[in-house]
Amino acid sequence: MTSLLDAYAQVAGGDSIRHLQQLSEPLQGMKVVHVNSTRLGGGVAEILTKLVPLTRELGIDAHWEVITGDEDFFHCTKSMHNALQGMAADIPARLLDKYVEINARNAEELRSTLEEADFVFIHDPQPAALLHFCPDRKGTWVWRCHIDASRPYLPVWKFLRQYIRHYDASIFSLAKFSQSLPHAQYIIPPSIDPLSDKNIDLSREELQKISKNYQLEEKHPLLVQVSRFDRFKDPIGVIRAYQMAKRFMPSLYLILAGGEATDDPEGAEVLGEVREAAAGDDSIQILLLPPDAHRIVNGLQRMADIVIQKSTREGFGLTVTEGMWKGKPVIGGNAGGIAQQVIDHQTGYLVNSPEGAALRIRYLLHNPGKLEEISIKAKDFVRENFLLTRQLREHLTLIVGMLHGARDRIVLG
Ligand code: UDP
Repeated sequence: MTSLLDAYAQVAGGDSIRHLQQLSEPLQGMKVVHVNSTRLGGGVAEILTKLVPLTRELGIDAHWEVITGDEDFFHCTKSMHNALQGMAADIPARLLDKYVEINARNAEELRSTLEEADFVFIHDPQPAALLHFCPDRKGTWVWRCHIDASRPYLPVWKFLRQYIRHYDASIFSLAKFSQSLPHAQYIIPPSIDPLSDKNIDLSREELQKISKNYQLEEKHPLLVQVSRFDRFKDPIGVIRAYQMAKRFMPSLYLILAGGEATDDPEGAEVLGEVREAAAGDDSIQILLLPPDAHRIVNGLQRMADIVIQKSTREGFGLTVTEGMWKGKPVIGGNAGGIAQQVIDHQTGYLVNSPEGAALRIRYLLHNPGKLEEISIKAKDFVRENFLLTRQLREHLTLIVGMLHGARDRIVLG
């Protein structure tokens, strides 16, 4: 086993790596190309950074190509992103023309790679029109949507759909995000990378340092919510739940950690409301962290007794996965992908109100046995379902499945 595969075997289990090797046996030497629009920043880039090298380790000739564009193009694709998530974003014809033109130009540059590839995964709307400009493609093309497209703004979806409908298949993160399309749709939920700074084990010294920097020594029990300051993440509801629970547990402490909100007017407004709600309570700490503070977020999640994610709407909720992976019971809002991860009473608690959250906080802190049981189940559940290795397994299964058409039984090596 190579050192990278070995590193994943240590955290995900040897069986999961052997499974990957078995699935990749019939795919040896096959050329698989992923295309997105950025190498840095955002969840897609984060996934591809590890998924592609891991695929290569398995003997598959995997590549990652990035399209380039100008300001107008990215302005247009940002509007497409918002529109797929339901915003009524009307895009001027001039920008739509630019979208097509930039896709044509990138297709020109990537043509030989793309047309020769056995499998092409096109991520999100930005490069979706590439297929149209690769008429001599020999491989299978799959459109991978990472966005909550459950209720797209129709004029923009109709525009994109004219390109997407020609793919051989598409992948969505959750069943409810899928769309009416004339091809097979696969559901592959997101995952976390257990070896990234956000999720890797931290030494006792590093944890102590973080604890000291944020004056968290002796702050116990500790509740932590890590989120952008966004109303759907319900930070005010978290403060209310904490205040109710604190009546029965006076030493309770709360951290709300989020990003700097200066470039997001709504974020700044929500942050103001949060500060007001927390005013006068020095057991609530509001932390503004830079976007690359992965090890600090990691440390805060590890120091928590309970991780909260009280969202009232949520796409998937990676902070839930991250908390569970650290063996924390998560009290999560009963919304979106949170309900896929938090199995009520088993891997955490689902709540619908601050009162419900307060009740679960009290219950967990008074029942260390239950807390321990949930922590173990939560970590196992993530290991089984939401690590990068599972996402790769599903990609490989999809490739093997599509190569074999509709055959009922596929015998691997
Ligand atoms: N995150 C972070 N710093 C912050 C807030 C969030 O690093 O101040 C990370 C968090 O750890 C998670 C991601 O951003 O990895 C948020 O993903 P999630 O699916 O929970 O919510 P989204 O922000 O995409 O709605």
